[in-house]
Amino acid sequence: MRLGFEHGSALDIRTVAQLNSSLHGKTNFRLTSISPCSTYSDTLAHMVNSERTDYEPLTAALNVFVSFISNVSEQARNMQLEDVAAGKVREYIDILMDDETLSTPYAEGIDVYFPKTFLYLLWAVCYYLFVVTETIMDQEMEGTYDGHLRSDAFTRRAYDLINYALTLRFRYLPWPYEVIDPNVDAEFARDVNVIFGYALAYVYFHEYAHVTLNHSAVSDAILSKDQEREADNFALDVVLGTASDDNTRRNYGIAVGCAGISMLYCVSDPKNLDSTTHPPVDIRLANSMSYLSIADPKANYYLYKLLCVGLVGFCDMYKIPVSTQIYDTIEDQYGDLLERIATRRTST
Ligand SMILES: [Zn+2]
Repeated sequence: MRLGFEHGSALDIRTVAQLNSSLHGKTNFRLTSISPCSTYSDTLAHMVNSERTDYEPLTAALNVFVSFISNVSEQARNMQLEDVAAGKVREYIDILMDDETLSTPYAEGIDVYFPKTFLYLLWAVCYYLFVVTETIMDQEMEGTYDGHLRSDAFTRRAYDLINYALTLRFRYLPWPYEVIDPNVDAEFARDVNVIFGYALAYVYFHEYAHVTLNHSAVSDAILSKDQEREADNFALDVVLGTASDDNTRRNYGIAVGCAGISMLYCVSDPKNLDSTTHPPVDIRLANSMSYLSIADPKANYYLYKLLCVGLVGFCDMYKIPVSTQIYDTIEDQYGDLLERIATRRTST
Protein backbone atom coordinates (compact mmCIF):
# COMPACT_ATOMS: atom_id res chain seq x y z
CA MET A 1 0.00 0.00 0.00
CA ARG A 2 1.09 3.57 -0.51
CA LEU A 3 2.40 5.14 2.60
CA GLY A 4 2.03 8.65 1.40
CA PHE A 5 5.55 10.07 1.44
CA GLU A 6 6.19 10.88 -2.12
CA HIS A 7 9.46 12.41 -3.05
CA GLY A 8 9.00 15.38 -5.32
CA SER A 9 5.50 16.22 -4.12
CA ALA A 10 4.86 19.59 -2.57
CA LEU A 11 6.10 20.19 0.93
CA ASP A 12 4.65 23.61 1.31
CA ILE A 13 5.86 25.11 4.55
CA ARG A 14 6.13 28.73 3.59
CA THR A 15 5.78 31.71 5.85
CA VAL A 16 6.44 35.35 5.31
CA ALA A 17 9.16 34.92 7.90
CA GLN A 18 11.25 33.13 5.33
CA LEU A 19 11.86 36.49 3.75
CA ASN A 20 13.75 37.50 6.81
CA SER A 21 17.14 35.96 6.26
CA SER A 22 18.19 36.68 9.84
CA LEU A 23 16.12 33.68 10.81
CA HIS A 24 18.39 31.33 8.96
CA GLY A 25 21.58 29.60 9.71
CA LYS A 26 23.00 26.15 10.03
CA THR A 27 22.37 24.25 13.19
CA ASN A 28 25.02 22.81 15.37
CA PHE A 29 24.39 19.48 16.99
CA ARG A 30 27.96 18.50 17.52
CA LEU A 31 28.62 16.34 20.51
CA THR A 32 30.32 19.11 22.48
CA SER A 33 27.37 19.38 24.82
CA ILE A 34 27.82 15.83 25.99
CA SER A 35 30.60 15.15 28.43
CA PRO A 36 32.45 11.85 28.44
CA CYS A 37 31.00 8.92 30.32
CA SER A 38 30.86 9.43 34.02
CA THR A 39 30.38 7.09 36.93
CA TYR A 40 26.75 6.60 36.23
CA SER A 41 27.50 5.48 32.69
CA ASP A 42 29.71 2.85 34.22
CA THR A 43 26.76 1.70 36.30
CA LEU A 44 24.80 1.64 33.10
CA ALA A 45 27.57 0.19 30.98
CA HIS A 46 25.31 -2.76 30.41
CA MET A 47 22.38 -0.46 29.70
CA VAL A 48 21.28 -2.83 27.09
CA ASN A 49 20.44 -6.41 27.91
CA SER A 50 23.31 -8.76 28.24
CA GLU A 51 22.70 -11.15 25.40
CA ARG A 52 24.19 -8.89 22.77
CA THR A 53 26.81 -6.24 22.80
CA ASP A 54 26.12 -4.69 19.43
CA TYR A 55 22.93 -2.97 18.49
CA GLU A 56 23.53 -2.52 14.83
CA PRO A 57 22.60 -0.35 13.09
CA LEU A 58 22.17 1.93 16.11
CA THR A 59 25.25 1.22 18.24
CA ALA A 60 26.64 4.75 17.84
CA ALA A 61 23.23 6.35 18.36
CA LEU A 62 22.56 4.31 21.51
CA ASN A 63 25.94 5.32 22.89
CA VAL A 64 24.88 8.94 22.62
CA PHE A 65 21.66 8.06 24.43
CA VAL A 66 23.45 6.30 27.30
CA SER A 67 25.92 9.14 27.64
CA PHE A 68 23.13 11.71 27.61
CA ILE A 69 20.92 10.12 30.24
CA SER A 70 23.99 9.65 32.41
CA ASN A 71 25.02 13.28 32.15
CA VAL A 72 21.87 15.27 31.56
CA SER A 73 22.16 16.87 35.01
CA GLU A 74 23.69 16.22 38.39
CA GLN A 75 20.20 16.05 39.84
CA ALA A 76 18.98 13.51 37.28
CA ARG A 77 22.08 11.39 37.74
CA ASN A 78 21.62 11.27 41.52
CA MET A 79 17.95 10.46 41.11
CA GLN A 80 18.80 7.53 38.86
CA LEU A 81 21.53 6.24 41.14
CA GLU A 82 19.21 6.38 44.14
CA ASP A 83 16.32 4.75 42.31
CA VAL A 84 18.56 1.95 41.03
CA ALA A 85 20.04 1.41 44.51
CA ALA A 86 16.55 1.33 46.05
CA GLY A 87 15.45 -1.26 43.52
CA LYS A 88 12.82 1.07 42.07
CA VAL A 89 14.11 0.83 38.52
CA ARG A 90 16.31 -1.68 36.71
CA GLU A 91 19.91 -0.61 36.08
CA TYR A 92 19.59 -1.52 32.43
CA ILE A 93 17.07 -1.21 29.66
CA ASP A 94 15.89 -4.16 27.63
CA ILE A 95 15.99 -3.77 23.91
CA LEU A 96 13.66 -6.28 22.33
CA MET A 97 15.56 -7.60 19.33
CA ASP A 98 12.70 -9.60 17.80
CA ASP A 99 11.99 -9.13 14.11
CA GLU A 100 8.46 -7.90 14.68
CA THR A 101 6.22 -5.18 13.37
CA LEU A 102 6.38 -1.79 15.03
CA SER A 103 5.40 -1.43 18.66
CA THR A 104 6.05 1.30 21.20
CA PRO A 105 8.23 1.35 24.34
CA TYR A 106 6.64 0.29 27.59
CA ALA A 107 7.32 -0.29 31.28
CA GLU A 108 6.49 -3.39 33.26
CA GLY A 109 7.35 -3.82 36.92
CA ILE A 110 10.71 -2.08 37.31
CA ASP A 111 11.73 -2.74 33.70
CA VAL A 112 11.68 -0.52 30.66
CA TYR A 113 11.48 -2.13 27.22
CA PHE A 114 12.41 -0.65 23.85
CA PRO A 115 11.31 -2.67 20.83
CA LYS A 116 14.03 -2.57 18.16
CA THR A 117 11.59 -1.46 15.50
CA PHE A 118 10.59 1.60 17.53
CA LEU A 119 14.25 2.62 17.67
CA TYR A 120 14.46 2.19 13.90
CA LEU A 121 11.42 4.37 13.38
CA LEU A 122 12.72 7.02 15.79
CA TRP A 123 16.07 7.23 14.02
CA ALA A 124 14.38 7.43 10.62
CA VAL A 125 12.06 10.21 11.83
CA CYS A 126 14.99 12.18 13.29
CA TYR A 127 16.87 11.80 9.99
CA TYR A 128 13.89 12.71 7.82
CA LEU A 129 12.91 15.79 9.85
CA PHE A 130 16.47 17.04 10.17
CA VAL A 131 17.50 16.57 6.54
CA VAL A 132 14.27 18.04 5.17
CA THR A 133 14.33 21.02 7.54
CA GLU A 134 17.98 21.76 6.78
CA THR A 135 17.24 21.57 3.05
CA ILE A 136 14.24 23.91 3.28
CA MET A 137 16.31 26.37 5.31
CA ASP A 138 19.03 26.20 2.66
CA GLN A 139 16.53 26.78 -0.11
CA GLU A 140 14.97 29.67 1.78
CA MET A 141 18.38 31.23 2.16
CA GLU A 142 19.03 30.87 -1.55
CA GLY A 143 15.53 32.13 -2.31
CA THR A 144 14.67 28.95 -4.22
CA TYR A 145 11.99 27.53 -1.93
CA ASP A 146 8.60 27.58 -3.64
CA GLY A 147 6.96 24.88 -1.54
CA HIS A 148 8.86 22.09 -3.27
CA LEU A 149 11.80 20.37 -1.72
CA ARG A 150 15.00 20.15 -3.71
CA SER A 151 15.72 16.64 -4.92
CA ASP A 152 19.24 15.55 -4.09
CA ALA A 153 21.00 12.52 -2.66
CA PHE A 154 20.12 13.52 0.92
CA THR A 155 16.46 14.24 0.44
CA ARG A 156 16.00 11.09 -1.63
CA ARG A 157 17.66 9.12 1.16
CA ALA A 158 15.42 10.80 3.73
CA TYR A 159 12.30 9.77 1.81
CA ASP A 160 13.55 6.22 1.28
CA LEU A 161 14.31 5.88 4.97
CA ILE A 162 11.02 7.27 6.25
CA ASN A 163 9.07 5.08 3.87
CA TYR A 164 11.02 2.07 5.13
CA ALA A 165 10.23 3.00 8.74
CA LEU A 166 6.53 3.51 8.03
CA THR A 167 6.37 0.07 6.44
CA LEU A 168 7.35 -1.34 9.85
CA ARG A 169 3.82 -0.56 11.04
CA PHE A 170 2.56 -3.36 8.82
CA ARG A 171 5.45 -5.77 8.42
CA TYR A 172 8.99 -6.29 9.63
CA LEU A 173 11.85 -5.49 7.30
CA PRO A 174 15.54 -5.41 8.24
CA TRP A 175 17.38 -2.07 8.40
CA PRO A 176 18.10 -0.74 4.86
CA TYR A 177 21.89 -0.38 4.97
CA GLU A 178 21.82 0.38 1.26
CA VAL A 179 20.04 3.63 2.19
CA ILE A 180 22.20 4.61 5.17
CA ASP A 181 24.39 3.19 7.92
CA PRO A 182 23.91 5.40 10.99
CA ASN A 183 27.30 4.36 12.38
CA VAL A 184 29.17 5.89 9.49
CA ASP A 185 30.00 9.50 10.15
CA ALA A 186 28.43 10.72 6.96
CA GLU A 187 26.91 14.16 6.56
CA PHE A 188 23.84 14.42 8.82
CA ALA A 189 24.20 10.93 10.35
CA ARG A 190 26.35 12.11 13.23
CA ASP A 191 24.01 14.98 14.04
CA VAL A 192 21.05 12.65 13.80
CA ASN A 193 22.65 10.28 16.31
CA VAL A 194 22.71 13.18 18.77
CA ILE A 195 19.10 14.16 18.11
CA PHE A 196 18.12 10.49 18.44
CA GLY A 197 20.02 10.20 21.73
CA TYR A 198 18.16 13.18 23.23
CA ALA A 199 14.83 12.04 21.79
CA LEU A 200 15.18 8.55 23.21
CA ALA A 201 16.15 10.06 26.58
CA TYR A 202 12.78 11.82 26.62
CA VAL A 203 11.04 8.53 25.78
CA TYR A 204 13.09 6.76 28.46
CA PHE A 205 12.29 9.23 31.23
CA HIS A 206 8.61 8.98 30.36
CA GLU A 207 8.75 5.21 30.99
CA TYR A 208 11.04 5.79 33.97
CA ALA A 209 8.31 7.95 35.51
CA HIS A 210 5.73 5.17 35.09
CA VAL A 211 8.07 2.80 36.91
CA THR A 212 9.26 5.01 39.75
CA LEU A 213 5.95 6.80 40.38
CA ASN A 214 4.27 3.40 40.72
CA HIS A 215 1.89 3.90 37.86
CA SER A 216 -0.16 0.86 37.04
CA ALA A 217 -2.43 -0.20 34.26
CA VAL A 218 -5.80 1.20 35.23
CA SER A 219 -9.15 0.78 33.57
CA ASP A 220 -10.24 4.28 34.48
CA ALA A 221 -9.60 6.48 31.43
CA ILE A 222 -9.21 9.73 33.37
CA LEU A 223 -6.73 8.23 35.82
CA SER A 224 -4.80 6.61 33.00
CA LYS A 225 -4.53 9.87 31.08
CA ASP A 226 -3.45 11.65 34.26
CA GLN A 227 -0.63 9.15 34.65
CA GLU A 228 0.45 9.73 31.05
CA ARG A 229 0.48 13.47 31.54
CA GLU A 230 2.46 13.06 34.74
CA ALA A 231 5.01 10.87 32.94
CA ASP A 232 5.28 13.36 30.05
CA ASN A 233 5.85 16.27 32.42
CA PHE A 234 8.40 14.29 34.42
CA ALA A 235 10.37 13.56 31.23
CA LEU A 236 10.10 17.18 30.10
CA ASP A 237 11.39 18.36 33.48
CA VAL A 238 14.41 16.05 33.30
CA VAL A 239 15.31 16.70 29.67
CA LEU A 240 14.30 20.32 29.16
CA GLY A 241 14.62 21.52 32.73
CA THR A 242 18.38 21.85 32.51
CA ALA A 243 18.62 23.71 29.20
CA SER A 244 19.89 27.13 30.12
CA ASP A 245 20.20 28.89 26.77
CA ASP A 246 18.01 29.18 23.70
CA ASN A 247 20.15 27.03 21.44
CA THR A 248 20.20 24.17 23.92
CA ARG A 249 16.46 24.58 24.42
CA ARG A 250 16.00 24.46 20.66
CA ASN A 251 18.14 21.32 20.34
CA TYR A 252 16.29 19.54 23.14
CA GLY A 253 13.03 20.84 21.70
CA ILE A 254 13.90 19.36 18.32
CA ALA A 255 14.60 16.03 20.00
CA VAL A 256 11.36 16.05 22.01
CA GLY A 257 9.57 17.11 18.82
CA CYS A 258 11.09 14.17 16.95
CA ALA A 259 9.91 11.82 19.71
CA GLY A 260 6.40 13.32 19.50
CA ILE A 261 6.29 13.07 15.71
CA SER A 262 7.48 9.45 16.00
CA MET A 263 4.55 8.65 18.29
CA LEU A 264 2.29 10.31 15.72
CA TYR A 265 3.75 8.17 12.93
CA CYS A 266 3.25 4.99 14.99
CA VAL A 267 -0.48 5.52 14.69
CA SER A 268 -1.78 3.45 11.81
CA ASP A 269 -5.04 5.37 11.51
CA PRO A 270 -5.72 9.00 12.55
CA LYS A 271 -8.89 7.81 14.28
CA ASN A 272 -6.57 6.14 16.80
CA LEU A 273 -4.90 9.40 17.76
CA ASP A 274 -7.08 9.35 20.81
CA SER A 275 -7.32 6.28 22.97
CA THR A 276 -8.82 5.39 26.32
CA THR A 277 -5.39 5.19 27.93
CA HIS A 278 -3.42 8.14 26.51
CA PRO A 279 -4.20 11.77 25.85
CA PRO A 280 -4.33 12.46 22.09
CA VAL A 281 -0.87 12.36 20.53
CA ASP A 282 -1.25 15.80 18.99
CA ILE A 283 -2.19 17.29 22.38
CA ARG A 284 0.84 15.64 23.97
CA LEU A 285 3.04 17.20 21.30
CA ALA A 286 1.49 20.63 21.82
CA ASN A 287 1.96 20.26 25.59
CA SER A 288 5.67 19.49 25.21
CA MET A 289 6.23 22.46 22.96
CA SER A 290 4.39 24.84 25.28
CA TYR A 291 6.90 23.75 27.90
CA LEU A 292 9.70 25.44 25.99
CA SER A 293 9.93 29.16 25.84
CA ILE A 294 12.51 30.28 23.36
CA ALA A 295 13.14 33.99 23.08
CA ASP A 296 15.55 33.84 20.14
CA PRO A 297 13.40 34.07 17.00
CA LYS A 298 15.93 32.17 14.91
CA ALA A 299 16.02 29.17 17.26
CA ASN A 300 12.24 29.26 17.54
CA TYR A 301 11.73 29.43 13.78
CA TYR A 302 13.96 26.43 13.21
CA LEU A 303 12.18 24.33 15.83
CA TYR A 304 8.67 25.07 14.56
CA LYS A 305 9.76 24.60 10.97
CA LEU A 306 10.89 21.09 11.83
CA LEU A 307 7.63 20.34 13.63
CA CYS A 308 5.67 21.57 10.62
CA VAL A 309 7.65 19.24 8.36
CA GLY A 310 6.56 16.37 10.63
CA LEU A 311 2.92 17.44 10.78
CA VAL A 312 2.67 18.06 7.04
CA GLY A 313 4.09 14.56 6.52
CA PHE A 314 1.34 13.11 8.71
CA CYS A 315 -1.36 15.06 6.84
CA ASP A 316 0.13 13.87 3.56
CA MET A 317 0.00 10.25 4.73
CA TYR A 318 -3.70 10.43 5.59
CA LYS A 319 -4.86 12.89 2.95
CA ILE A 320 -5.73 15.47 5.56
CA PRO A 321 -6.02 18.65 3.49
CA VAL A 322 -3.47 21.34 4.30
CA SER A 323 -3.69 24.96 3.34
CA THR A 324 -1.35 26.37 0.71
CA GLN A 325 -1.63 29.85 2.16
CA ILE A 326 1.54 31.56 3.23
CA TYR A 327 1.38 32.10 6.97
CA ASP A 328 2.43 35.16 8.90
CA THR A 329 4.43 33.17 11.38
CA ILE A 330 5.63 29.61 11.64
CA GLU A 331 3.69 29.21 14.92
CA ASP A 332 0.48 30.09 13.01
CA GLN A 333 1.16 27.31 10.56
CA TYR A 334 2.01 24.86 13.34
CA GLY A 335 -1.24 25.72 15.16
CA ASP A 336 -3.28 25.32 11.98
CA LEU A 337 -1.75 21.91 11.21
CA LEU A 338 -2.41 20.69 14.76
CA GLU A 339 -6.03 21.77 14.46
CA ARG A 340 -6.48 20.01 11.13
CA ILE A 341 -5.09 16.80 12.62
CA ALA A 342 -7.28 17.14 15.72
CA THR A 343 -10.42 17.13 13.54
CA ARG A 344 -9.57 13.58 12.47
CA ARG A 345 -9.77 12.16 15.94
CA THR A 346 -12.98 10.31 16.76
CA SER A 347 -13.22 11.77 20.24
CA THR A 348 -11.58 14.47 22.26
ZN1 LIG B 1 3.13 6.27 29.07
